[in-house]
Amino acid sequence: MIPRTLFSSEHETFRDSVRRFMEAEVVPQDEKWQEQGYADKAVWRKAGENGFLCPSMPPEYGGAGADKLYSVVLIEEQARANNSSLGFGLHSEIVAPYLLAYGPEALKKKYLPKMASGEMIGAIAMSEPGAGSDLQNIKTSALKKQNHYVVNGSKTFITNGWNCDLVIVVAKTDPSKGAKGTSLVVVDTSMKGFTKGRRLKKMGLKGQDTAELFFDNVEVPPENLLGQENNGFIYLMQELPWERMQIAIGAVAKAEAALEWTRTYVNERKAFGRTVSSFQNTRFKLAELATEVQIARVFVDRCIELLLQKQLTPENAAMAKYWTTDLECKVLDECVQLHGGYGYMWEFPVARAYVDARVQRIYGGTNEIMKEVISRSLGLGPKK
Ligand SMILES: Cc1cc2nc3c(=O)[nH]c(=O)nc-3n(C[C@H](O)[C@H](O)[C@H](O)COP(=O)(O)OP(=O)(O)OC[C@H]3O[C@@H](n4cnc5c(N)ncnc54)[C@H](O)[C@@H]3O)c2cc1C
Repeated sequence: MIPRTLFSSEHETFRDSVRRFMEAEVVPQDEKWQEQGYADKAVWRKAGENGFLCPSMPPEYGGAGADKLYSVVLIEEQARANNSSLGFGLHSEIVAPYLLAYGPEALKKKYLPKMASGEMIGAIAMSEPGAGSDLQNIKTSALKKQNHYVVNGSKTFITNGWNCDLVIVVAKTDPSKGAKGTSLVVVDTSMKGFTKGRRLKKMGLKGQDTAELFFDNVEVPPENLLGQENNGFIYLMQELPWERMQIAIGAVAKAEAALEWTRTYVNERKAFGRTVSSFQNTRFKLAELATEVQIARVFVDRCIELLLQKQLTPENAAMAKYWTTDLECKVLDECVQLHGGYGYMWEFPVARAYVDARVQRIYGGTNEIMKEVISRSLGLGPKK
């Protein structure tokens, strides 16, 4: 294996403590969370107590002011623990950074320390029943009336949607202007007119509370606007490379974990009086997959380096997201195959990882949208 050069000994010590947390507090409860369709809020508080939420948040807002590599470690260790019930990444690395970057001081003081401690859970609501990839076409509105924005509409597929205490809502403040009339407003779930809908039953990510959200004349004070009115789309675009890298980081870590489970399994399982690993097909298949995962690892680590230097381009992040999540699905499919019938059984981690992987090609921008981003950077596209 090519040695990784990103992490210091402090990052590795942190990794050990995250790993212990996953083993002690997450893995034993995960089956229960999958059955009930959401994780208990208590684990969020424990994660907060241990400094595992919002690690890069400045200390004045309850974080440790740590560098992004601590966030990378958290994402990798959650993937390695085969856990998909906890929407920690979305909360810490998407919702909190929007508040930090664009929120007025009072809003930051109100929410960020509680998000870092796990007392409050954050969600971000972009997708609607009629618009996911085509976000310019959202219908949810936040129209100014007297002293408030009045939010109306519905959102779907929202991660942390059922457990959340605050939601960043992408809404039209000027519906006549398309993307240029879009804003980000923070809706506190205690506000009148806000309701949570069903927890959606999914193919995978069964312990994660993906939900519908409804807004019926929710009066939102103007101080809950993030940044400037009508600039929401610009803010969304700025954060996308890091959001997409998070998916790529998880994909490579999960693929590595799956290869390890499979290596152990085929060395033990016997068929025709031999171990499954003694068949040339098994060895060659795992050799091929290990090579591709290694290539992905090197590329993703280099992208992380560029991200830390603030030089990662949107197209590089799109390449990482698209290629690693396609690879993750391929690796998981082959690993299930090498487990035979046991690979189809829920108690084998590879079965769960297989169904969990599928959505990685869909959310965070579908892989087709990633190819659009990449092709635009190549100067390709419809002639105007
Ligand atoms: C488990 C889960 C969690 C999610 N969490 C969140 C969340 O927390 N917050 C949130 O806002 N959303 C969330 N989403 C929504 C997710 O981001 C969207 O599902 C995704 O962006 C795709 O949008 P869509 O479902 O409307 O598909 P559509 O946009 O309808 O796409 C359907 C198909 O058409 C293709 N397509 C669309 N446009 C183009 C194009 N221009 N060129 C080529 N092909 C195209 C797509 O690639 C896809 O194959 C989540 C989704 C899931 C499944």
